[in-house]
Amino acid sequence: MKIPFVDLGAQYKSVKNDMDAAIHRVLDNTAFIGGNEVDEFEENFEELYGVKHCIPVGNGTDSLYIIMKMLGIGAGDEVITPANSWISSSETITQTGATPVFADIEEDYFTIDPNHIEELISNNTKAIMPVHLYGQMCDMDAIMDIAKKHNLYVIEDCAQSHFSEYKGTRAGLLGDAGSFSFYPGKNLGAYGDAGAIITNDDELAEKCKMYARHGALKKHEHEMEGINSRLDGMQAAILKVKLPHILRWTDQRIQNAKLYYQYLSEIDEIEIPKVREETTHTFHLYVIRAKIRDELSDFLNKNGISNAIHYPRILPNLAAYSYLEHSTNDFPIAEKYESQILSLPMYPELTDDKIEYVSKVIKKFYRSIV
Ligand SMILES: *Cc1c(COP(=O)(O)O)cnc(C)c1O
Repeated sequence: MKIPFVDLGAQYKSVKNDMDAAIHRVLDNTAFIGGNEVDEFEENFEELYGVKHCIPVGNGTDSLYIIMKMLGIGAGDEVITPANSWISSSETITQTGATPVFADIEEDYFTIDPNHIEELISNNTKAIMPVHLYGQMCDMDAIMDIAKKHNLYVIEDCAQSHFSEYKGTRAGLLGDAGSFSFYPGKNLGAYGDAGAIITNDDELAEKCKMYARHGALKKHEHEMEGINSRLDGMQAAILKVKLPHILRWTDQRIQNAKLYYQYLSEIDEIEIPKVREETTHTFHLYVIRAKIRDELSDFLNKNGISNAIHYPRILPNLAAYSYLEHSTNDFPIAEKYESQILSLPMYPELTDDKIEYVSKVIKKFYRSIV
């Protein structure tokens, strides 16, 4: 059996007629940038997600950058973000002129540790950027308390957590703004780069929209200099086709995680993902912690099962951040997990027999080495 890590082809096939029609509609109407498709996606996403403003942008990196820039974050400021994430989280902090300050992660949930955030706060701290990694919500009550106490902005990186919920509130609606990526492999994915900002703050929404469109809300009326970060018509049309299915696809991920849990919980050599209480984990990634991880990864590959590591190096250990001169003891949990984490195949169309097969192969691996 061959099991891919994600299967974008299976999803395309399931909506092929609508998708092909949508793509041809864009070609027929030649509305390649802006236009109806983008406006309608914006409205549909706002309605489905339950948020006042959705600002479609070019990708999920720009969205982080634009939010911070429009909150006035810049040179001399510090923004606290987790040591374990994709580089966009920290890279965009630097892009604003501010300095990324890395916090360790929680032992149980892989997300930023609020206790470490407290220790890192200085007079220059302007914001916290929690990342709801793998689809798991951060400890938002604790984070919002810290933010209130120290008067900090909270920018939620929701690139991996579309429709995740914390005590009934969706990711991106607890802080000042939420940032989404619609990169093809994300839970809601376009067929190219795409992203969005969400916020209930009218003023921030208008600023972000203006900044992403060369500083102009009306053509040629540039109130400021901005950047070019637009969602194109083709990607908007593609996302619009997927929106009516996203809640079902999200639920299928959750069901797949439940099945993995049934099969994998009895294996002592691995630790399966825990879900924070009173939250909905949407399983963008299904990340286990495994003994002799690299050997297990090879064994899975040999048995036709694709797998990956998110992420092989924690951000402070990347060459890009060597200037921060962190030592190996600065992030004990993130450091420890770096050599243990392994992402197993996870996508809505993953079938029960495939989950069973992955589980069997993992069991076989650990039996073979005792
Ligand atoms: C994917 C991702 C991003 C960036 O999104 P792009 O659309 O690829 O720019 C940012 N943060 C996290 C945590 C991500 O996983």
